[in-house]
Amino acid sequence: MSVLTSVSGFPRIGQNRELKKIIEAYWKGVATLDDVRATAKELRAKHWKLQQEAGIDLIPSNDFSYYDQMLDTAILLNVIPQRYQRLAFDNPEETLFAMGRGYQGDKGDVTALPMKKWFTTNYHYLMPEVDEATDIKLNSTKPFDEFNEAKALGITTKPVLIGPYTFLKLARNPQAEELEYDKGLVNAVAAVYAEVVAKFAELGAEWIQIDEPYLVLDKEPGDVELFKSLYTKILPARDGKIKVLLNTYFGHIADVYETVNLLAFDGIGLDLNEGKDENLAAVEKFGVAESTTIFAGVVNGRNIWRNDYAVSLGLVDALKKVTDNVAVSTASSLLHVPFSTEGEDGLADDVRKHFAFAVEKLGELHDLAVLADASEEDKKASGALAANQALFDGTRVAADKNVAERLAALTDSDFVRQPARAERQKAQREALNLPLLPTTTIGSFPQTKEVRAERARLRKGEITKTEYDEYMKAQIDACIKHQEQIGLDVLVHGEFERNDMVEYFGQNLNGFLFTKNTWVQSYGTRCVKPPIVWGDVSRANPITVEWSAYAQSRTSHVMKGMLTGPVTILNWSWPREDITHEQQTQQLALAIRDEVLDLEAAGIKVIQIDEAALREKLPLRKTDWHKKYLDWAIPAFRLVHSAVKPTTQIHTHMCYSEFNDIITDIDAMDADVISFEASRGDLVVLDAIHDANFETEAGPGVYDIHSPRIPSEAEIEERIYEILKKMDVEKVWINPDCGLKTRGNAETWPSLENLVAAAQAVRAKL
Ligand code: GLN
Ligand code: ZN
Repeated sequence: MSVLTSVSGFPRIGQNRELKKIIEAYWKGVATLDDVRATAKELRAKHWKLQQEAGIDLIPSNDFSYYDQMLDTAILLNVIPQRYQRLAFDNPEETLFAMGRGYQGDKGDVTALPMKKWFTTNYHYLMPEVDEATDIKLNSTKPFDEFNEAKALGITTKPVLIGPYTFLKLARNPQAEELEYDKGLVNAVAAVYAEVVAKFAELGAEWIQIDEPYLVLDKEPGDVELFKSLYTKILPARDGKIKVLLNTYFGHIADVYETVNLLAFDGIGLDLNEGKDENLAAVEKFGVAESTTIFAGVVNGRNIWRNDYAVSLGLVDALKKVTDNVAVSTASSLLHVPFSTEGEDGLADDVRKHFAFAVEKLGELHDLAVLADASEEDKKASGALAANQALFDGTRVAADKNVAERLAALTDSDFVRQPARAERQKAQREALNLPLLPTTTIGSFPQTKEVRAERARLRKGEITKTEYDEYMKAQIDACIKHQEQIGLDVLVHGEFERNDMVEYFGQNLNGFLFTKNTWVQSYGTRCVKPPIVWGDVSRANPITVEWSAYAQSRTSHVMKGMLTGPVTILNWSWPREDITHEQQTQQLALAIRDEVLDLEAAGIKVIQIDEAALREKLPLRKTDWHKKYLDWAIPAFRLVHSAVKPTTQIHTHMCYSEFNDIITDIDAMDADVISFEASRGDLVVLDAIHDANFETEAGPGVYDIHSPRIPSEAEIEERIYEILKKMDVEKVWINPDCGLKTRGNAETWPSLENLVAAAQAVRAKL
């Protein structure tokens, strides 16, 4: 007998991104909805079977999604704003996609729901919108259909749902404000969940997993009450026929553990990677209810490194001192890791053996379950344990002495740019000679099929590097010409030569490793393939200088150089676990600093250092914000640009505007200009900018590039006036809300024309 194994969720996009491909084909009109449904069904079956073969006891269902599981939850609860219902599509999937990515066609014109980062991951969920007209009721059979689908294959799954507490905490009203959790709303939501629990009992499910990751955040007044009132209404629906696993992840729930324990869930899932110490201490302090099993989240759902079995077994042992009922589980859904190391033959075997992706993590769970129950003798004899131990003995990779010496030589002044920003801004205004409300873009222009094909040809050796360079130069030339024609002020070269804003830099840095197929879902059908930090990092050679210098030589306009910042490179890579994130970020900062100074020397007057992902890894608990993150992340950014001339204008860009609560820290990055997203309805950050007397000039995105719809000139003009209500006109920049690489040329250029026209119209009336 071994302990029970449970997987919180499995990647759904497919080993070879089959789901992405078929959905995008459907959007293009070259596949039917039935094709999409068939591929989805095949993928679900494949994933269930893989887990069954790995010996997993509690295999999740309803972790599948066409677009996003929060969107599915909203639809399940009938939280579908009128504007989408009015489109009156024939198929539910069409409504789902309209909510996810907007819709512009014969049936109407609607923007998508706002998109937000899922806790500290690079996954994005759609923000449910609850309004006066919302009639909460059970509105979909998706969870039941998928359960039955697995059952027909002979697999009794554990259905997974996002919980009512997390749902209510993340949903917003149409003004993007938190909901008022009045009795009617709470009862209606609880009633749907109770109905779902009862229905699953009837269908023969043994367990249902309800995810409440929002429990790992700081509690506001009323939160614990809200949680309790939801679950005291839901749990009786079990009626002795089904077990409810309350699953938490991405941190600890020490501050509510006692309450949770008193509710006597059948299972409580605890993250024993993030929030390990606090969770363990809480269990030790308050004990475990007799009828409750602790699901020990020991297999990390967010890293790619092999599990250290000795550590995991130690955690299970610590729990077993408190209760006999311990199961082993993934710490979070495996959605956030790549599919499998299989096929990664570009990695040497003695490198690859250090990695465990989703499929390999299933094997780890199984090993741990067996070992957790083994006698000391059997453990000693275990080949699996010995092989695992060998991975963690000795040094994996040698340190780089030069990097260590450079870091040791840094002094405080290396982290401070001179002179003060107000003085620089004056000097830059004269040097750059830009109009009020200058227009620009975030960097990339559409990466067409042709551009990507050209890169593939170079990789396969079908064309020479010279031929490739000529092709890219022609792309740059055309892009510059087009930008000049439509009248943008600060130009970009378009980033055609980059496969990705992180991998491209990683490829020119020492210390990085790359994989072929390690895709992870980011939003909708969009996936990312983070590189791996393997050793100490330094710049191998100049990275962007030639391209930027070439682009500047082709125009008399200001050409913006384009770099990725150190915090973002780390956040969008798989970090090492043998040295701290702070150390890795500092190494990266020195490498990018070298690049900044080379760009300046090559005559680039405006340099954008993207920190798209800075907000993403802000710790979930406020008490950790500064000491665990901002205190080193913000100085690392300053280290990158502190040595440039006063007239060199430093821009930065951040995706997603939820940084109103760290606005002074953003200002302390000491950039001259920041652009960010603020186009999907959420104006809170503009208030924050206003209230904080934000010094950095700023371009709150004036339209949403995550949707294919074209914003009208009037719409953008209106948006600019919204911005001018909150910001000094001297500090406002006009730009889209993110890079354009995922868009097509067909929508990009008309959108930008409208953007320039709107800026000019407002300027003329100033
Ligand atoms: N400069 C990058 C681009 O335009 C920024 C991308 C991002 O913010 N995610 O693509
Ligand atoms: Zn962005």
